[in-house]
Amino acid sequence: MNPIQHMVVIGTGLIGGSLSLALKKAGRVERVTGVGRSRANLELAKELNIVDDWTHDITEAVRGADLVVLAVPMTAYESVFKAIAVNLSATAIITDAGSTKQSAMNAARSLLPDSSQFVAGHPIAGTEQSGAGAAFSELFEERLCILTPDEDTNPEAVERVQEIWQAVGSRVMRMAPVEHDDFLAAVSHLPHLAAFALVNAVRKQGNEEHEPFEFAAGGFRDFTRIASSSPQMWRDIALCNRDAVVRQLDALQDELSGLKDALQSDDGEQLLEHFTSAKQARDEWLETYGKSLI
Ligand code: NAD
Repeated sequence: MNPIQHMVVIGTGLIGGSLSLALKKAGRVERVTGVGRSRANLELAKELNIVDDWTHDITEAVRGADLVVLAVPMTAYESVFKAIAVNLSATAIITDAGSTKQSAMNAARSLLPDSSQFVAGHPIAGTEQSGAGAAFSELFEERLCILTPDEDTNPEAVERVQEIWQAVGSRVMRMAPVEHDDFLAAVSHLPHLAAFALVNAVRKQGNEEHEPFEFAAGGFRDFTRIASSSPQMWRDIALCNRDAVVRQLDALQDELSGLKDALQSDDGEQLLEHFTSAKQARDEWLETYGKSLI
């Protein structure tokens, strides 16, 4: 892969910061400019050698860059695309790491010049931590990264973005944006909403002597880890993939209703069937895909 001369990372948090660190470690990038809103976070990014320089000025930052990476919350896309549209060079490739792909592509289509080379991407990797301080260079190793080009996406730009993710150790898959959003609603967005809901349901219990969290142990911690994720980020993701997320909430509600019916009718067979099929599916998933997950 030809090295990237000048990469601009808009949003130098967990994802943008980790991509920069990984590309630097692999020797694939000459210069990285960080763009963001928080001075403290950008100074930290410089201190941690995530970026070589930084600015708050998005429009100026992208002048002459050959790669622009958006790693900002989904609701920032419109303002970021408007700001970068002015000074993008004709050969620059723009990509992103956002968690919902139809909304990203719609925003790019309506706000970037027609000649722009935007390739939508989503690394399936992350933690519940935010900010430059949470970034680490191994985050994308042996992880999947999904690219969602459509008929208007420049094939050479797609190849280039694929090379970049492969250079940081990811396996790259291409799929239609709608398909991406449907699957991710099921395996990522629904679990986050369920974790937030479960913690809320539990925190409202308790009596004068005890609160329920006093009795929570490893199972509660494992189930609810992702409820420590950024509330703003998850608000944005849920809103940007609303219809698919609502369908998944309906599916979960159906499952919960099934469990409630089985309990109320003392139907141990039904309960066993629910639990057994779930255990089998999870064990198989872990065996096939989950071994390298941290
Ligand atoms: P983060 O909070 O760690 O970093 C986001 C950064 O964007 C912050 O530094 C913030 O200051 C900056 N920012 C916010 N609004 C901005 C604006 N208008 N202009 C410029 N900078 C702005 O978040 P993250 O976890 O790195 O997530 C970034 C993107 O990656 C999100 O779109 C998210 O959906 C996606 N993503 C996250 C994960 C995950 O597990 N955290 C995984 C895959 C993809």
